[in-house]
Amino acid sequence: MPRRGAVGFQAANRIIKLRDIYKALESSQDASYCSVHRGKELELYCETCEELICLRCAYKGDKHHSHDHQDVDKAFESFKEHILRRLEAPKSRLKSLLKAVEKRLVCEQTSGASGEHDSIKYHHTVLGGLRVDLETAMDKLTHILKFLRTRKLSKQVEVLAKKSKLLSGVAGVEEVIQRSCLILEGPDPSLCYLVRRDTMPVVGKKATIGLDVVNFSGSSFDGSLRSLQCVLISLETGAEVKCDVREGTIQYKIVYQPTVEGKHHLSVQVNGYHVRGSPYMLSVRLPEDRVAMGCS
Ligand SMILES: [Zn+2]
Ligand SMILES: [Zn+2]
Repeated sequence: MPRRGAVGFQAANRIIKLRDIYKALESSQDASYCSVHRGKELELYCETCEELICLRCAYKGDKHHSHDHQDVDKAFESFKEHILRRLEAPKSRLKSLLKAVEKRLVCEQTSGASGEHDSIKYHHTVLGGLRVDLETAMDKLTHILKFLRTRKLSKQVEVLAKKSKLLSGVAGVEEVIQRSCLILEGPDPSLCYLVRRDTMPVVGKKATIGLDVVNFSGSSFDGSLRSLQCVLISLETGAEVKCDVREGTIQYKIVYQPTVEGKHHLSVQVNGYHVRGSPYMLSVRLPEDRVAMGCS
């Protein structure tokens, strides 16, 4: 309760109302009147300066006289056309990307690919984050399009005044699309899996194991796997041996050469997360000749 009681409330309310009206007046003046020539409406758009001007601004002897300018509605229409043309492809791309992400999220849920495995959590985090980004971009796009639908001159003035902001909004949408495509094409550790081979690895000999690489969209990945880390660890000595990764036509081949016998872990990670089947347990034995000679 204000110190002056109910009267104080009324006074406070009046101040707020007056402030609102003043604000509204101020913003409408900002939007459609010249800041140089008092009371003159902004009717032209100066292409040279990329700003709204009044008729007086274009008079002989004035700053914008020799510049290129056109009527606000014409400038608005050409800007609108430019934006619409630029948004045409992103609009449909955004829709299909969002659909693809939704589909993957639903697909993972129903196929029971859940669980506590870190790579599955990673998968959900990446796709969930992507969905939020795409939805935000979609909202931005809808907002921009709604803004361009106006026929009112004062609104057109507003659009032209916010030209650079709108353009950066469009660039933001394009950037989200580009980033989403890259992520969806990238390898998803929760979908990649080791294809076991039955052969028993031998000390000093090269052995291989297959790796199927699937991307976040659920299709086969083809590219170079820079995010792949592959190492063979002896459980007895802790010795680590780096593995080679070879790109194959259908699947990747991991080539490793054990240096000691005994139990090993083959750790295969994409972006720091284990693929399905990793760490893979394997037993390395001594070569036949060394066994016969009694070496160990
Ligand atoms: Zn002016
Ligand atoms: Zn100018």
